[in-house]
Amino acid sequence: MRSTYAIIFILLIIALGVCAVIAKRSRKAIGTSVAFLTGSLLLPVTGHLIIISSTSELSATIGYYFYFLGMDFVVYSLLRFTFDYCVFSWPSKKLRNVVYGLLCADALQYAFNPFFGQAFSTEPLMVEGAPYYRLVPYLGQTIHRVIDYGILVAVLVIFAVKTIRASRINSERYSVILITLSGFSLWQTFFIFSRTPVDRSMVGFGCFGLLIFYFSLYYRPLRLLDRMLANIASDMPEALYFYDGSGRCIWANAPGLALAGATEKELDQVNAKLTALFGTYEKEGKEWSSKQIIGAGNDAKYYNLEKHVVKDDSGRIAGSFLSIRDNTEEQLHFQQELYDTTHDSLTGLFTKEYLYQKIRELLAIKQDVPYMIVFVDVKNFKIVNDVFGNAFGDYAIQCIADWIQTGLSENTVCGRLAGDTFGVCLPVDEFDPHRIEQALASFEVKKENISHHVLIHLGIYVVAEKNMDVSVMFDRAHLALSSIKDDYQKHIAYYDDAMRNKVLWDQKISSQLRDAISTRQLLPYLQPIVDGQGNVVGAECLVRWNHPEHGFLPPGSFIPVFEKNGMISEIDQYIWRQACEMLSRWKDKSLFLSVNISPRDFYFMDVPAQLKALVTEYHVAPARLRLEITETVMMTDVEKRMEIFHDLKRAGFIVEMDDFGSGYSSLNMLKDMPVDFLKIDMNFLTKSQNEYKAKTIVRSIIQLSEALGIGSLTEGVETPSQYQILTEMGCKLFQGYYFSKPMPIEEFEWYAFPEDFAS
Ligand code: C2E
Ligand code: CA
Ligand code: CA
Repeated sequence: MRSTYAIIFILLIIALGVCAVIAKRSRKAIGTSVAFLTGSLLLPVTGHLIIISSTSELSATIGYYFYFLGMDFVVYSLLRFTFDYCVFSWPSKKLRNVVYGLLCADALQYAFNPFFGQAFSTEPLMVEGAPYYRLVPYLGQTIHRVIDYGILVAVLVIFAVKTIRASRINSERYSVILITLSGFSLWQTFFIFSRTPVDRSMVGFGCFGLLIFYFSLYYRPLRLLDRMLANIASDMPEALYFYDGSGRCIWANAPGLALAGATEKELDQVNAKLTALFGTYEKEGKEWSSKQIIGAGNDAKYYNLEKHVVKDDSGRIAGSFLSIRDNTEEQLHFQQELYDTTHDSLTGLFTKEYLYQKIRELLAIKQDVPYMIVFVDVKNFKIVNDVFGNAFGDYAIQCIADWIQTGLSENTVCGRLAGDTFGVCLPVDEFDPHRIEQALASFEVKKENISHHVLIHLGIYVVAEKNMDVSVMFDRAHLALSSIKDDYQKHIAYYDDAMRNKVLWDQKISSQLRDAISTRQLLPYLQPIVDGQGNVVGAECLVRWNHPEHGFLPPGSFIPVFEKNGMISEIDQYIWRQACEMLSRWKDKSLFLSVNISPRDFYFMDVPAQLKALVTEYHVAPARLRLEITETVMMTDVEKRMEIFHDLKRAGFIVEMDDFGSGYSSLNMLKDMPVDFLKIDMNFLTKSQNEYKAKTIVRSIIQLSEALGIGSLTEGVETPSQYQILTEMGCKLFQGYYFSKPMPIEEFEWYAFPEDFAS
């Protein structure tokens, strides 16, 4: 029997040792106190192993020391563990010191036992034919028991209180320890009083250690978890339905029951009720999710359904659960946001991006229907805002948006492209140009006592390729508008390919200009200017572009393009330089050269400074470089321009007013304008039907200029009779095909200086 217990004790020692190491290594907070407790239990168990295997009094006595000192350590560790496990702390430091002090004192008194024998001695007995040294307790031993059992009782009380106070589910972890600890204590007490040779309660010691180890570190309160999960599921706002492996509903939370319209007793009807609600909502396959809408319009409700499958350890489906979330609020919020980003806040029309998208969709669906893109442009809208205020401006925009929208069929989409521009895409046969022209002829915006006629232009592109980028379609519709500029009579303009070709042409030559200048594709041609006796006295420099691809380009095909984008100043500077270069070559001749100055030049450079620098560089007398400026230059910044004229004149240049009679010629302005010559264009005059009137006008201009001390030059002279009449009228200088067309420089030199080539 002793050997059986010895083996049991050895096994327990091994088990407790392993547990102590594992507990110490575990990263859990309570690990150290568990390691202490399981470790401390090794001492009394080892002590007892020694006692029962002792055949001498000495070894048995050593065993008893192990046992009793070990018990003090066990009690200390138990206290420590209890406080950690029950999340309990010493009521006072004093009490803690007293208790630990008692334990130390008790351990100490065993040290005196060999000398005073006050704690215990042993007496030999024969058990199973071998000597066994039984304990004979004295006063010291009684004190030891009082201390250890006193503390043990306190620990039991703590566990008892915890067991009672904790919720039913939680009390399990306390009650298990309370029961084992009580059982083991009773077992010990029984041993003490029975005085049997082997303390079987040591087995209880070991088991207690193992239990503590398990409960503290590995026990998971499954019932608690179960209850907690159930609580969470009940409190979830989503409707939840739990199904067993066969698909039978076994539980539903309150929102779930409410949504299905079932009670807890009607779980078997849940599936049928959900089908009634959502139609066939259940999907094939193991896990799925779907979105469902119930109702329509403002009453529509949006749901997200999700089915999850729960598998057992072997991977077989054990059950499943369905969650249904009411997504209506989010959906409405989302729809509102979508509306806000796709609709213009002022007019409620689509925004540009959304309009483009809608047009793409529409054209993709209506492949066989011819469609048109309409670019609606409100002219001079800035003025409406400036004059009547932004509130009226906004109101006008709303009125225009309303007008655009009225009567549009469902095959049409429209939107606001930007501040005062709108876009429409509609079937060609739904567009009635007469009705629209009529409406736009008298389009008035009225509010309170303000009434304003708004000029609206429509640029139209009839969609030829439906796959074309929508923005390109609008570019084309917009391009069409350029043909009616500020027209008050015509409100609709159609895009044609000539417009596109024009834009492409403009872009092409603009990108080629610099190269053309540096490679001398651009050349000055000279057109002679003669006096009344037919002598060549000068020439006008007119630019020509000898294009490698398109041959000789007349200025009319590129000058207006560069006038528009400002690149004209690069041409002019180049021609001025060429003119100065020629004049410096002809320094022994009295010939002058006229160069053209574009009104745009004044925006891009300091014209007088440039010209002065050039004549200085080429040592040319400024009077030999005549400057042709059209009267349009005086349409802006009159005073500044006047000052420029004065500046040029002071520098010695001769200034000619080009194309006089063609435009807004203000005779009144002439008296203040410091020009030396008027250049009258016959072309403008001969175009007029009444030749008699034309002659009268020319005569008056010539006489007027003479009276003002301004010379006159007529250009566009084509016939000898024109020459004759003009001479009679008092004109001094002439230019025109009658004398010569513009020609290359060498040819001009032949023409103007025949004597130089005589030999
Ligand atoms: P412009 O300055 O009025 O030049 C006179 C234009 O009338 C020239 O046309 C000339 O060839 C043309 N012409 C001359 N005699 C006759 C005639 O008897 N009958 C007719 N029907 N036409 C005649 P071109 O060379 O085609 O120049 C057209 C316009 O281009 C010029 O009108 C001028 O405004 C502009 N231009 C030409 N070269 C330059 C330049 O270097 N710089 C600037 N800024 N403009 C230029
Ligand atoms: Ca000219
Ligand atoms: Ca002219």
